[in-house]
Amino acid sequence: MSALVESWIVTGNDPDGDFPLNNLPYGVFSRKDERPRCCTIVGETIIDLAALEELGYFDLPQPGVFSQPSLNAFMALGSPAQTHVRDRLTDLLRVDNSLKLKDLPAHQKRVLFDVYSVRLHMPFAVSGFTDFYASKHHATNVGTMFRGAENALPPNWLHMPIGYNGRASTVVVSDTPVTRPKGQLKAQDADAPHFGASRRLDFELEMGAVVGASTAMGDSVSVAQAGDMIFGYVLLNDWSARDIQAWEYQPLGPFQGKAFATSIAPWVITRAALAPFRVAAPPRDVPLLPYLQESGPMGYDIELSVELKPRDSQVGTIICRSNTKHLCYSAAQQLAHHASSGCAMRVGDLLGSGTISGPERGAWGSLLELAWGGKEPITLDDGSKRTFLEDGDMLTLRGFAQGEGYRIGFGSCSGTVVPARE
Ligand code: CA
Repeated sequence: MSALVESWIVTGNDPDGDFPLNNLPYGVFSRKDERPRCCTIVGETIIDLAALEELGYFDLPQPGVFSQPSLNAFMALGSPAQTHVRDRLTDLLRVDNSLKLKDLPAHQKRVLFDVYSVRLHMPFAVSGFTDFYASKHHATNVGTMFRGAENALPPNWLHMPIGYNGRASTVVVSDTPVTRPKGQLKAQDADAPHFGASRRLDFELEMGAVVGASTAMGDSVSVAQAGDMIFGYVLLNDWSARDIQAWEYQPLGPFQGKAFATSIAPWVITRAALAPFRVAAPPRDVPLLPYLQESGPMGYDIELSVELKPRDSQVGTIICRSNTKHLCYSAAQQLAHHASSGCAMRVGDLLGSGTISGPERGAWGSLLELAWGGKEPITLDDGSKRTFLEDGDMLTLRGFAQGEGYRIGFGSCSGTVVPARE
């Protein structure tokens, strides 16, 4: 396990902070009325990558990639350029650096900004959003509720990462309000459905993988190649309307019950930053087909939490603590499976891991599971109870990988539920 890389930006050296120099995640920011552009962060300091490039600090094959309002052009440059930028930033910002930024106040004024003085935007343009179902605990819990314990895990689940094509158009950055969705609802004992606002609105704790390379239609990739195609990871909340979902989902899977909103954190955490935190997948019940087999550990040990804060409450309650190590399929396997039919993959594709539930109740990553389909309400720290989300509820996802004396943090992914529109 590597140690903290100390920075002359001293807020980056807090052992409990999300953004030490080891992290260097990528995002998009703006100040006041300025154009959004690419950035990274150390501690509480935003680093303007477009300004650094203009000042000649990088040597990139294509100029101007950081001046764009998304990371897509930088992602498309591939690994050599990304390694160059990461190495260069590490040299510039480390405490014992020999390069000039540390001693040039005029440059610092153009490049460094207090994180509390900027606005963070969607970090990349989402080409397509696909959502998987990679936690066995989640699949078993949901299957038990929807189909009974004997049919809980579908027979295909053990053999491949199953998923569905979601909507890219409603993937939004943290802090974007989420309007309660409307749809067809049908109580089990009702003869016919009616149309109205969802009464079973839920969250799903997930990790999103951001694809940084494309494949041609008809081509496929190995799991190892797919691993190299992943630019990084973001916290992801796959908001779900359980009543809409329950009535619509057979036989073609989730549709409107998932289409209305997906929230992501503003920071993409790179594969390089997460490299020390690789872990093997949980043991498998059956061997995978060769095209899905991985040569080494491709999962991650990332601690996750979900906080729920009601509108009028001063206190939030941590309602779930989980970990990405519970996922049975890695993002690399999911991507290899996705491309295996000949499906073209694009820079900016977003792959949701599926709800990340652990084995015990406190590690379940949705209210559907935590309150067992509405039958067992949970009690929040302010004394109120929840089966599903109420208007005004704010959900916040957080995550970090724990190193020795430092953390690779994921920032936070928040969203507040607002009432359905008339
Ligand atoms: Ca999901």
